[in-house]
Amino acid sequence: MSFRSSKIEYKTNSQILKMREAGLVLAEALDTTVAAAKVGMTTKELDEVFESVITKHGTTSNFKGYHGFPATICASVNEEVVHGIPGDRVLEDGDVLKIDGGCIVDGWHADSARTVIVGTADPEDQRLSDVTEEAMWAGIAALAEARFVGQIGEAIDDFVSGREGKRLGILEDYVGHGIGSEMHMPPDVLNYRSGHRGPRVKPGMCLAIEPMLVRGNIETAVLEDDWTISTTDRSRASQWEHSVAVTMGGIWVLTAHDGGAERLAKYGVTPSPVVP
Ligand code: MG
Ligand code: MG
Repeated sequence: MSFRSSKIEYKTNSQILKMREAGLVLAEALDTTVAAAKVGMTTKELDEVFESVITKHGTTSNFKGYHGFPATICASVNEEVVHGIPGDRVLEDGDVLKIDGGCIVDGWHADSARTVIVGTADPEDQRLSDVTEEAMWAGIAALAEARFVGQIGEAIDDFVSGREGKRLGILEDYVGHGIGSEMHMPPDVLNYRSGHRGPRVKPGMCLAIEPMLVRGNIETAVLEDDWTISTTDRSRASQWEHSVAVTMGGIWVLTAHDGGAERLAKYGVTPSPVVP
């Protein structure tokens, strides 16, 4: 895949602050939904938990109605990677659940996802989630110094390749994206080393960085519901995602309560918030 980079939207500081408002509501909604994800819950019940939080804050969902999507979160279990539709499926001990959600404040979008392992985790599933999460942070940290968007995927790829043990696969069919006045905008944000440097990183650029890793083959297929993306070998998958702004002074993780401070410290990166 090459980079789709036409018509990148560069945000003003006040627009970034709207996205931050959405990002903070989203962080709280994901906190609450992750905490509610227990054995015996259905994915539909989790969708209701998420929706109640974003509604309480007066924000609207950018997932519900998106090309007809019927819910406020994507809930994808085990070999399902992304775009799972919440429903009657009951969560079982050891399930690897991906919760992906978003919301809008005054037309400005936020998008974030987490993996939660329900009940007792298989150690290899825990490793899958941990490596995916840290790969996301390695990609976010790389953005702080990057001249080109392609350096994010290079950092993610290098981090995953550098792990001991069996190498996890990085999905190539689905990638991160620009975000702002719409949820999905140019440029594409690849999670792997592609040989293309991509567009130049500039202040005002806002990107959703979302590596998707699998324990087996990276080949995927769309299930019969026309939404759910699953690995074809049924190996388990993880997804983690944050929306990140490039500011005049660096980067700011809009969907992390602390702007990314704690997780970025070990990379020597300090968040650089926009000041009202
Ligand atoms: Mg998402
Ligand atoms: Mg996204």
